Formats: sequence, C-alpha cells, structure tokens
Amino acid sequence: MIKEKNIIVLLSGGMDSATLLWLAKQNFEEVYAISFIYGQKHSIEIEYAKELAKIADVKQHFIVELPHLKQLGKSALTDPSLEVPSQDYTDQPPITTVPMRNLTFLSIAAAFADVYEIENIGIGIHSLDSPYPDCRAEFASAAEAAINASSVMVANKKNRIKIYTPFLGMSKVDIAKLGYKLGVPFEKTYSCYKGTNPPCGECATCRQREEALKSIKED
Ligand SMILES: [Zn+2]
Repeated sequence: MIKEKNIIVLLSGGMDSATLLWLAKQNFEEVYAISFIYGQKHSIEIEYAKELAKIADVKQHFIVELPHLKQLGKSALTDPSLEVPSQDYTDQPPITTVPMRNLTFLSIAAAFADVYEIENIGIGIHSLDSPYPDCRAEFASAAEAAINASSVMVANKKNRIKIYTPFLGMSKVDIAKLGYKLGVPFEKTYSCYKGTNPPCGECATCRQREEALKSIKED
C-alpha cells in the first residue's frame, strides 16, 4: 500500500485518538501529534498522550496550552462549579461541551501544519449524529474550507490541507474493534471526564469506553 506523505493527529490520550494515531502510522509516512492542555479536569490524559506518542514513535509531539477555555467556564469539563454528570446527558448539546473546542484545536493544528508543511490533520470525531456540534461531518468540511482559505502553504504550493476523519460514521464499538486489530495499547489510554485515578467508571465517557472494550472480548 502506498502511504500518504504526512499528518498531524489531534491526540487526547483517549481510545479514539489513540486508534487514529495507530491508523495514521499505517497510512502516512510521517506522523506528528498535538495535544492540548485547556483547563480540562482530566488533564491527566496528557500524560497518557505523551506515553502513546512515544510508543507510536511519532516524528514530533506538540503540547499546547490554552488558558482561555478555563477562564470561559460554562463547560463541566473545565468549570469547577459544574459537575461532570454520572448519568446520560439530557441537555443538547451536553453540559460537557467545551465552546469551540474542536475549531480551536483544528486551527492551531493547522498553524503547525502550515509551518511544518503537513498536508493532513487527523481528528477522531465519530458517529454522524454526535450531540456535540463540533464533532459532525458538517463541521469538519467547513473547518477544512476555512483552513485552506487561510493557509500560507496552500497559497504558495497550490496543494490542499485535508481534514482526515476516518471515524465519521463509525461507532465507538467499531473504533475499539479497529484499534484492537491495529494493536493499540488500550491499557495506556485514558478517557474519564472526571479525571480521577483510577477512572470513575460512572461518567458517560467511562461507560462508553467500557462498553466498547467489552465488545472486543465478545468477538
Ligand atoms: Zn469517568
């Protein structure tokens, strides 16, 4: 199989982005990773992201700090006065939505892509009907258009920057099965939104993770 040239992968340290990283290693010659410290209660995930990037032997792992999202609050992921719910989300979009998170992440990754001449940006968003607006296909294609319109590399070289979203339309279970096939070390990933160590096992993210990992064993 002919590999594409290069990619920068948004790596949170969770199982989806870890699987994306392993998939990228298979499909691209050069793989970079980028992780964000944005005031998330589960910033412990960054330590997992560092370890995963090391195991995957990425070309470079960038860690970027974004203080404004905590300052902004209003999300249960960053605001100390709001609790991460243990039950399923009822609000749409959920209280765990972080304002403009993926747009911010993609635009920063795009800046690195522009400087390092990276032609693809990988993001592990999945399932077309996500409750998070910035995890939908519509968002990804609009972001891609904006990034190409503002890229110096694109203006100079007349190529394109592609947003790589292989998991759109896949469920968490599909991703877990793919990750298993690719040899992702799931024991070195972290997903809990409450940020406890060990993971709380109760929040929606913990439960979705558990269900997905269980489905591998059932196969
Ligand atoms: Zn949890």
